[in-house]
Amino acid sequence: MKHDYSMKHLRPWSIVIGTLFFVAAALSGVLTKVPVFCPLHRFTGIPCASCGLTRAITALCHGDVITAVHYHLAAPMVFLVWIGIVLISFFELWTDRDILGSLWLRWGKVATWLGLIIILTGWGINLIEWAKQNAVG
Ligand SMILES: [Zn+2]
Repeated sequence: MKHDYSMKHLRPWSIVIGTLFFVAAALSGVLTKVPVFCPLHRFTGIPCASCGLTRAITALCHGDVITAVHYHLAAPMVFLVWIGIVLISFFELWTDRDILGSLWLRWGKVATWLGLIIILTGWGINLIEWAKQNAVG
């Protein structure tokens, strides 16, 4: 019998367990108290493309869509994709099939471009907000 020594079978477990930790942290309020780790924001004050997403997803975990969109426009889409990935991971664990891998092979390029457009649109809005708050005069 040949053994599968790849780490592929760990992916659904790591997604599900990582999600449980994140949701527990989000619901406990810990994630709103952590310092800013983003180097661009920390050293220049300018938000990067993903700045605000953790706070936005935390707000979504509390059911607060308005606050989430305020932090980052892409948050609801990221949240829905994340929920989809978690549900597919549960299904992979249940059926012992690789679904995410074959979905990624088929739709990876489209998903990457759509994700980029959505994240960059949210970043553009955050940069405009930042510029308004930091306007001189
Ligand atoms: Zn950032």
